[in-house]
Amino acid sequence: MSRVAYVNGRYLRHAEAQVHIEDRGYQFSDGVYEVILIKNGHMIDEEQHLKRLQKSLSSLEIVLPMKQTAMRHIMKEVIKRNKFQNGIIYIQITRGVAAREHSFPKYSNPTLVMTARRIVEKNYNEIESGVKVITIDDIRWKRCDIKSISLLPNVLGKQTARNQGAYEAWMVDAAGYVTEGTSTNAWIVSPDGRLITAELGRNILSGITRNTFIKIIHELNYKLEERQFSVEEAKNAREAFFTSSTSFLTPVTEIDGAVIGNGRAGSLSIELLKAYDNYMNQAY
Ligand code: PMP
Repeated sequence: MSRVAYVNGRYLRHAEAQVHIEDRGYQFSDGVYEVILIKNGHMIDEEQHLKRLQKSLSSLEIVLPMKQTAMRHIMKEVIKRNKFQNGIIYIQITRGVAAREHSFPKYSNPTLVMTARRIVEKNYNEIESGVKVITIDDIRWKRCDIKSISLLPNVLGKQTARNQGAYEAWMVDAAGYVTEGTSTNAWIVSPDGRLITAELGRNILSGITRNTFIKIIHELNYKLEERQFSVEEAKNAREAFFTSSTSFLTPVTEIDGAVIGNGRAGSLSIELLKAYDNYMNQAY
């Protein structure tokens, strides 16, 4: 079945969708994006994603090229035209096309692109075997709270992980604390059962999935600490995992070669993942 993309007012065959070579997204990474999960044909946490998108746009002084209601309509249409039930919708907005000059152009129409693709969820057997994580220096800029399309350190980090047979790389700041994964938020469970994830700030992305898990953790009455944790603390954790819209909760069973817990997904991780599954199924 052929995929459909939306580009500046038109629905096009995905293979033929294009933007101009002088789009500032292409030349300067001058833009932002969002990835929203589609479950059984419905968007999960649409409101929160659109709120974060608006915040990222405002940080770059890019004005959404239409009313939010119009954009929501297009999002629904893109999902409909791609004819799948489970997958993701990708939304990208750049400052638009202009002669190459670093400073903002006087006039430019932001470019709005949406694509969608099917994803196949992992089953619990696969999830329970967990994944390996390596740690790398966090070499990013000081505004990681903006969901910018400028992702080179993240791309290089993920590739370093793959080259070393790991699934994700956790980035570590100059003081030795884990900030987040290259495309995920990082979590550990302390030996006495407290859930720990870095506090929000300009050094990490405010993950929508992270926020939802925080709500679930409160509802289940587990103890949560939003604070820094070191690589050493992570290696000695009872459980470790990461969260994102596309990976939900993924258990981590090895960090830089150190085995976490008994080398399988921890029981709290699985309990939280099941609660998140329920949340997704009731979210519409
Ligand atoms: N951190 C980074 C750097 C990311 O790229 C992502 C995924 N967009 C996340 C965290 C997780 O965010 P979310 O839960 O909103 O998908």
